[in-house]
Amino acid sequence: MPKITIAIDGYSSTGKSTVARQLAEWLEYVYVDSGAMYRAVTLYALRNNLVSYSEFKKEELIDSLEEIRLEFRKNKDGKAEMYLNGENVEKEIRTLEVSEFVSIIATVPEVRRKLVKLQHAMGEGKGVVMDGRDIGTVVFPNADLKIFMNASADVRARRRYEELSQRGDQITFEEVFNNVTERDHIDTNRKDSPLKKADDAIEIDNSETNIEDQFHTILQLAKDRIAGRVKRS
Ligand code: C5P
Repeated sequence: MPKITIAIDGYSSTGKSTVARQLAEWLEYVYVDSGAMYRAVTLYALRNNLVSYSEFKKEELIDSLEEIRLEFRKNKDGKAEMYLNGENVEKEIRTLEVSEFVSIIATVPEVRRKLVKLQHAMGEGKGVVMDGRDIGTVVFPNADLKIFMNASADVRARRRYEELSQRGDQITFEEVFNNVTERDHIDTNRKDSPLKKADDAIEIDNSETNIEDQFHTILQLAKDRIAGRVKRS
């Protein structure tokens, strides 16, 4: 079977990683959560006092980029987890604090260049499902299947709030709602690789769709693309 490249982009908390992981598991492809990489760089910046509510030492972050080593390693259940300079940071990168700064860090072209290079190396020539904001537009503009996911801001914030509350984070719905909408605003309006639907992406609004139905819809699209490749080869 030919292996295809699947790019899943969209707004914050639209369930991109859930469906991307399901697809990768079913197809036995590599799954790459590109957001985790931007989050890990943000954690590094926070830990080294390069970013705070009052200042952003952008040039210092750029100078430190060579010291930031990122990799995904599988845990015992086979789930890929993010490692920053050899340390498992999977839990720390999901906090609201990291979410508050990640979109600012993601505006820096030097950060994006470094991460896009890594993303190419992780996916090029393999069966890959990658989710993010610029996968179909910048990272893999020739991806075989591009999905652009959306849902109402209220539904997305509700999902994220439930996820964080279940983990035990002390946060309010309003904080999460503000973070989700603020990130979308920065991600959509940045100069370098803004979040936008690729012309050839299929848009899916899942405000009222359950996870299983959505998975089957996208899996069918993937199977069609694989069958198309078989016919052409
Ligand atoms: O996907 P996730 O919500 O974890 O991404 C966190 C943030 O990382 C996004 O809000 C965005 O600012 C940035 N990001 C990006 N490009 C990607 C993936 C994530 O700019 N491909």
